[in-house]
Amino acid sequence: MTTDQLYQLYLQYPVISTDTRKIIPGSLFFALKGDKFDANTFAQQALEAGAAYAVVDNAQYALTDKCILVDDVLTALQNLAAHHRSQLHIPFIGLTGSNGKTTTKELIKAVLSQHYKTYATTGNLNNHIGVPLTILGIDNTIEMAVIEMGANHQKEIELLCSIAQPNYGLITNVGKAHLEGFGGAEGVKKGKGELYDYLKANNGILFINTDSDDLIQMQLQRGLDGYNYGTRPNINFIRGELVNTAPYISLKWTRNETDVYEAGTQLTGVYNLHNILAAICIGCYFKLSPEEIYAGISGYRPQNNRSQIAKTATNTLICDYYNANPSSMFVAIENIDKLPAEHKVAILGDMFELGEESAAEHLGVVAKAMQAGIDERIFIGDEFYKQNGLVDATFYRTVAEAQAGLKNKPIKNSTILIKGSRGMALERLVELF
Ligand code: ATP
Ligand code: MG
Repeated sequence: MTTDQLYQLYLQYPVISTDTRKIIPGSLFFALKGDKFDANTFAQQALEAGAAYAVVDNAQYALTDKCILVDDVLTALQNLAAHHRSQLHIPFIGLTGSNGKTTTKELIKAVLSQHYKTYATTGNLNNHIGVPLTILGIDNTIEMAVIEMGANHQKEIELLCSIAQPNYGLITNVGKAHLEGFGGAEGVKKGKGELYDYLKANNGILFINTDSDDLIQMQLQRGLDGYNYGTRPNINFIRGELVNTAPYISLKWTRNETDVYEAGTQLTGVYNLHNILAAICIGCYFKLSPEEIYAGISGYRPQNNRSQIAKTATNTLICDYYNANPSSMFVAIENIDKLPAEHKVAILGDMFELGEESAAEHLGVVAKAMQAGIDERIFIGDEFYKQNGLVDATFYRTVAEAQAGLKNKPIKNSTILIKGSRGMALERLVELF
């Protein structure tokens, strides 16, 4: 079946399912392959559960006329999404970067939603499957789309751009994330720069964080025009500065160095300043009023264990355990360092996907945490464990060991930063506090 034919079917059945446990009646089921499963084998089950059609790529499972046989299900999904995108004549903002994508995406959505019907990536659906699914969720009532694009290797952003076809783009920053897959720091710039390449080739517009020399360099190399945001005077469309940081940040901002506006937030972490300025920049570009921007920024409350503050009976938790890499670890440590709290604890879990730089990067985080104004440091995971005995901190090899240790020695009346890679699942510790 061609993409055009599939598109006609999608127009009749515009909901996509990929998981037989969550089939939406009347949806199109795409039988994707995972690490452990080949969903071709579930096609019949999906139809029985109410899917209108099942898209498969193994003729053996194309048993009825409700099965649509394609060469490759993933490619068919991506092509369908790209085709659907090309029929939507609305601004698409593509967003990537090493850190802060989801937070920035949520803030942009919160701001633009004050004025436009805005659709954004849900959760963290930012990869070669998530981006097509996001796009296929956009109907013709939507006026603005914000698409998070994640990548851990070269050419991934290029692929995601060919599907999402952004006419606006933003790289939050380029830092130390997925060093292994990208091939070091230069590789990260090249890989993330694929968004700028796409914008250059398609006359797109850039929103640029001018506090990042790397991003400026990447912009200049390509001769791209952009709308600037950052903290330096006189070069920015939107300039901002922090007013307060503890525990929530508030800021002042100005457009073209004219009127000054204030904004309060429900976010912790000074690094969020740039995430917020990005959203203000985009809001101003799309002509929202300062009042609308204020409402969007101050109304956004993170619920996703990124920079989220939670109070328990005896402690204040800085829940940042959704994910971690060396750059986000550093800024999270700097943040707790600056918080005016009585007793501060950092519980840090291993960072994954760092390749041959892993040992050095973990050592760097230990050093950073030891130097910071923190009263107690707890490191969890095999990589951190290599420093066990070398510094005055507690080390556990696994979360299970940490659970046992922390039960014996409960933490009370403290502000506790909890942060580690997704695979560490540090949320397992939260009930102990
Ligand atoms: P992922 O790659 O997991 O999708 P992401 O890029 O979407 O991550 P967020 O989920 O928004 O990023 O934030 C993850 C963490 O990164 C935050 O909790 C914080 O520790 C850190 N972080 C957020 N924004 C920034 C920033 N602008 N600079 C550095 N670190 C940041
Ligand atoms: Mg994300």
